[in-house]
Amino acid sequence: MTRVFSGIKPTGHVTLGNYLGAMRHWAEVDQHRADSLFCIVDLHALTVDHDPARVRRLSRQAATLLLATGLDPEVCTVFLQSHVDEHTRLSYLLECVASDGEMRRMIQYKEKSARERERGGSMRLSLLTYPALMAADILAYGTDEVPVGDDQTQHVELTRDLAVRFNQRYGHTFTVPRAARPGVAARVMNLQDPTSKMGKSDDSGPGIVYLLDEPDVVRKKIMRAVTDSGRDVEYDRETSPGVTNLLEILAACTGGDPRALAGAYESYGALKEDTAEAVVEVLGTVQARHRELCADPTQVEGVLRQGAEKARAMARPTVDAAYRAIGLLPPV
Ligand code: ATP
Ligand code: MG
Repeated sequence: MTRVFSGIKPTGHVTLGNYLGAMRHWAEVDQHRADSLFCIVDLHALTVDHDPARVRRLSRQAATLLLATGLDPEVCTVFLQSHVDEHTRLSYLLECVASDGEMRRMIQYKEKSARERERGGSMRLSLLTYPALMAADILAYGTDEVPVGDDQTQHVELTRDLAVRFNQRYGHTFTVPRAARPGVAARVMNLQDPTSKMGKSDDSGPGIVYLLDEPDVVRKKIMRAVTDSGRDVEYDRETSPGVTNLLEILAACTGGDPRALAGAYESYGALKEDTAEAVVEVLGTVQARHRELCADPTQVEGVLRQGAEKARAMARPTVDAAYRAIGLLPPV
């Protein structure tokens, strides 16, 4: 059976981009067709300036939201990265096969380190080595497929390179994974700046729809979305990025095709209204289930405990094999 692994960082409140680009597919498709693991990758949240209490709160919230989107712990594994030591054990070995040059080439590293510098902070070394830990997350489980939004494909490519290199140097140890991207909404853009990605650790509130935003807040953000200078509703990322983003969001929420939808609208206003209502409806279902889960936090805790046990048992044989292959003696 295909093994699927993916994750979400507790770096901010979960966004519509996270949901449409990743989480929804995990719940609707991946967990039913594959042996899947979904991880709240909390160690990755420590790579930038962070508040410990906020990381704890956001980790719990991400776990609750994953279940609220419909992940079923009976058919998939949901857990916290920091609960399974195999991730950091393997990460070190991968740092020993990676070069600093390939880490420095990562777009996310360039963007986030520039942002940290702008804020006057120093860049954490873990921000540079992040892709090695992400590769460990994936490779520890013999993963075949990594369903991610567009922004993560470069990291998955690096993971593939590291797996191939390790296997060539030290003998076959890792499955070489591939990225799987969703057909629509692989890159949901910021509503106020449709040339940059909607990211949960960005500060610009009005351009980001959060999964737990109230319906009226969602409507307001979408109605105020920046549109383009033309008047026709066109699907074209280059010339009409704002409108194209709304078409992608609407298509993802209604199951339509963004190009076909473009022909159905004569004004930006009507497109915004329908997009807002479609998003409100999709989020309503997740929010209702989230409220139920919040009423009994022990349920989420139980899922995480059981998830970590299952994940540990899955990861250990591969990580132990990697330790042996690279030249380390087993404990005596
Ligand atoms: P951060 O700003 O801290 O990097 P993020 O919003 O990018 O946060 P991640 O935790 O890095 O979220 O990513 C979780 C998943 O959501 C990944 O699969 C990622 O590709 C996907 N994703 C993130 N942002 C978007 C987006 N705007 N559109 C589509 N998918 C996205
Ligand atoms: Mg990201």
